[in-house]
Amino acid sequence: MSQFEHATKPQPLEVLNSVFGYDSFRHQQQAIVESVVGGQDVLTLMPTGGGKSICYQIPAMVRSGVGVVVSPLIALMKDQVDALREVGVACAFLNSTQDQYEQMEVEASLMRGEIQLLYVSPERLLMERTLNLLEQAHLSLFAIDEAHCVSQWGHDFRPEYQKLSILPQRFPNVPRIALTATADERTKQEIISQLQLSNAKVFVHSFDRPNIRYHVSEMANAKHELWDFIEQNHPQDAGIVYCLSRKKVEETATWLSGKGRVALPYHAGMSVEQKNQNQQRFLREEGVIIVATIAFGMGIDKPNVRFVGHLSLPKSIESYYQETGRAGRDGAQANAWMAYGLQDLVMQKQMVENSDGNSQYKQVQMGKLNALLGYCELSSCRRQTLLGYFGESLSQPCGNCDNCLNPPKTWDGTQAAQKALSTVYRSGQTFGVTHLVNVLLGKSDEKIQRFGHESLSTFGIGTELTAEQWKGVFRQLIAMNYLTVEGMYNNLKLTELCRTVLRGEQTIELRELRKAKKKKTSSTKKSTALSAQDAEVFEKLRELRASLAKQQNVPAYVICHDASLADIALKRPLNHEELGQVSGFGDAKVAKYGDAIVELMIAQPKATLVLTATEQTTVDLFNQLNKVDLVAAERGIAANTVMSHLASAIEIGLCPLQQVIEVEPSELEQFGVVITQLNLLSERKLKPLFEHFEAKYDYSTLRCVVSHFVYQKQLASLANS
Ligand SMILES: [Zn+2]
Repeated sequence: MSQFEHATKPQPLEVLNSVFGYDSFRHQQQAIVESVVGGQDVLTLMPTGGGKSICYQIPAMVRSGVGVVVSPLIALMKDQVDALREVGVACAFLNSTQDQYEQMEVEASLMRGEIQLLYVSPERLLMERTLNLLEQAHLSLFAIDEAHCVSQWGHDFRPEYQKLSILPQRFPNVPRIALTATADERTKQEIISQLQLSNAKVFVHSFDRPNIRYHVSEMANAKHELWDFIEQNHPQDAGIVYCLSRKKVEETATWLSGKGRVALPYHAGMSVEQKNQNQQRFLREEGVIIVATIAFGMGIDKPNVRFVGHLSLPKSIESYYQETGRAGRDGAQANAWMAYGLQDLVMQKQMVENSDGNSQYKQVQMGKLNALLGYCELSSCRRQTLLGYFGESLSQPCGNCDNCLNPPKTWDGTQAAQKALSTVYRSGQTFGVTHLVNVLLGKSDEKIQRFGHESLSTFGIGTELTAEQWKGVFRQLIAMNYLTVEGMYNNLKLTELCRTVLRGEQTIELRELRKAKKKKTSSTKKSTALSAQDAEVFEKLRELRASLAKQQNVPAYVICHDASLADIALKRPLNHEELGQVSGFGDAKVAKYGDAIVELMIAQPKATLVLTATEQTTVDLFNQLNKVDLVAAERGIAANTVMSHLASAIEIGLCPLQQVIEVEPSELEQFGVVITQLNLLSERKLKPLFEHFEAKYDYSTLRCVVSHFVYQKQLASLANS
């Protein structure tokens, strides 16, 4: 019998609370957890950032025995295990990165029943030795993460995943939960059939990510646009920038580095060591930008990626959604930014045309690309269209995309379209955009003269628009399928659809080019709504977290998320109990980091020239009731909090110290001597004082005492000036 079976098993909500530090389950988590706890097989489709891992971690802790988690992401396993150990969960992993001795250790503790969760790679799990071992152990569940790897049509296909179908035969009584962030119906059906989950309860989570702000920029100079976006909105944040080619990845990383950011490349042409090294730095250091091809991303668990940028057009809405979904997994405000230009569009269309696939394949790919182009050229809410694509409907515009926040102007582009299309026609449908724009603007050059295009009836008829605007017109006409791009010189050709436009039987609505704006899109500070003062404390907490993470050799987010830091900066907890109220701080974290955080908070009193509203309320009540306990009871807050409010009042002379605590004049004098000796006033350190008096006074009392001397010192300096 293992050590985890003695006590009565806890309830899921208790585990969520005490281990993970959250008050309540999100979305369908509770129903999923309860199904697995009840022994039911489950399939969960949930977007990245939806809180997937809780769905198997909690059942594994509530059911008796060890939960086995199958994951293909060996490079990330150690971090996953570290994060769980951090909150006090007994867990381990088995994969090829360990030596034989380490593996035997893990196996031994598995047999002794000392592990609640075991992470394994599919290769390791399928070894006969491992299967035998597990048959002797007592298992609570199998969790099959990244279950879409079973699909041979997807780009993450892992053949071993299909062999996981032996699990129900070898372990008929162990419930399985399969999880994926993929939305599409075909993959779902494949998972069900390949993993033999026909009896599983299926949970499909909404794919909406309301904290992500979508923005598509149609600017010509994408690189500079990207820099403006990063500089204005994310001067210190971590982010991912996707590019189509390895060359562009390298160039962009170098360019961003030249701008003073830590920007690291990641693409399939690099060595495994280089890739791992850059990935680790991205995960562990603050504010790193990774510039990558689509090779980067699956399973990246970093919760505080604040932005995802696309410098190239993705291949489809699915890829776009999956890639942008890596932003804001912690639920805090994040940005998905994309620049898209004519060149990109032409290139993607060509790539599909020139691909090896058969005509059916090309047709499917072209359809996907067209859906994405439609999305780029939208004038209405982007989220409504995105969710619509995944079969969900959003009844109201979201209010958190560029089109909702800054509705694009449209104009009647019928005449411009006619001019553009007839220029294509009259010049023989064998020229690219640059040349056609020159014809419209009447800009004669060598090429125009060589082909005699000065004599075309459309030569110089388009001077009402700039070259940039004409490119926008052509781009939209391509996106709307009035024009196709063909041949190695990207020649534009008319499609059947053009007839009605050229005959004047159809009007065409075009989007106006947006002017570059210096307005912030959505910054971290704004999203966490911290005052300047709290933001400073937030930065100090970030430093503390970085040093703790370094000591323990884990990524910073394993210690805690940004959202928790912001919550601490707002609440300024002054003891462990108050820290326990902070979202994301369960018992283990409070015990482990409580002292360091509380010490930092005590040294960061709020600037107290004026009292905050809540402090004022406390002081008013205290003046009536005269007792800390009564005020605390009346306000429903902790006595410590009341004391901290009173300390603020003491510091600006609104409340005499003696009214708050009983202190003899001689005792006060002694405090004064020690505080001066230890030089505690400038940084207001309380710990040395606490230790000096050998814990005779609690921190709340000492805080009031120090505030008293701060006030006295101010009085003295006023008198001297
Ligand atoms: Zn919207």
